[in-house]
Amino acid sequence: MFCVECGAEGPVYEGLCANCFRKRHPIVAPVEFVDVPRCQSCGSYRLRSGWTKADRDLVIPQLLREAMPPLAPYERLSFTHVAREEDANNLSVRVKAAGRFQELTAVQDFQVRIRIKPSYCDACQKQRGRYYEGILQVRGEDRELAPREVRAARTFVAARIDRSEDPEAFVSRIEEVHGGLDFYVSTNALAKGLARDLAGAFGGTVTASPKLFGQRQGREVYRVTALVRLPAFQKGDVVRHKGAVAEVTSVRPFVVLRDLATGESRRFKPKDVRGANRIDAERFEAQLARLDSGELVAIHPQTAEERPLRPASKRPAARAVVVWTSEAAYLSNLPPEGSKD
Ligand SMILES: [Zn+2]
Ligand SMILES: [Zn+2]
Repeated sequence: MFCVECGAEGPVYEGLCANCFRKRHPIVAPVEFVDVPRCQSCGSYRLRSGWTKADRDLVIPQLLREAMPPLAPYERLSFTHVAREEDANNLSVRVKAAGRFQELTAVQDFQVRIRIKPSYCDACQKQRGRYYEGILQVRGEDRELAPREVRAARTFVAARIDRSEDPEAFVSRIEEVHGGLDFYVSTNALAKGLARDLAGAFGGTVTASPKLFGQRQGREVYRVTALVRLPAFQKGDVVRHKGAVAEVTSVRPFVVLRDLATGESRRFKPKDVRGANRIDAERFEAQLARLDSGELVAIHPQTAEERPLRPASKRPAARAVVVWTSEAAYLSNLPPEGSKD
């Protein structure tokens, strides 16, 4: 076949050789600017399909595709790019558009400026309006939450929201109320889901109560309050139960108390250990020593105080994790405080 334009011999596309075809047919009509709203709060970009949290380098080809459809007769088109930041809101982008027509590929190079328009996505806009639908309440079972539980619950919820794929999932505010925490969240489903997850991670019970709070577009709107009650004890707590000092080694599905004097473990239904009282204790790794009297003691790593070791072990190691109370040091079955378990 011969090119009708230049007479070259070889494959032709609509009568033209590859060179003449490429000269005759631009792939796209390059635009000078592409404007894209970007959420100042969460960094999402707005594409025609909606807000996306995708990385900038994934968003740019999308933007280019939206701004520059392939020109006929090209059937398919792909973009590659190199972006240079001129300032926080202006990108100078070197674009390579590759168009396909039958077996032929043509490439077109040009420059586009991407202008980022600071904005707020729908989710952040609502959040800024302190919008909420559901409430997640975290409380203790017959007690106030310990400061470390408050911290743990906050961290847990923040991590769940971060990992959520749903841009509509957010916490609009958190209130520390007497003995507990309230999270005001974007949807009722989120309140219930977080409550379930918290109870799964920390033990405890969940109740949810919907309350009608109005009508929206002729539809009844409910606000759900999901309440998690964290169990009376947490793993690692030291309690006095029926005269014995014990460490809590598990809280779900049963509460397991390990008697520190004997080393024996027993499991209880949560309601059967309501009468147990938490006592002040630390848990750490301590050096052990035998006194001249033959008594074994543990030595506090900071204060160098000594406490008799219980249960008295025949062949002790040089160091051990102990529960340190005002009366004694007990061999523990749990890792020291502050370590991951
Ligand atoms: Zn030709
Ligand atoms: Zn946002």
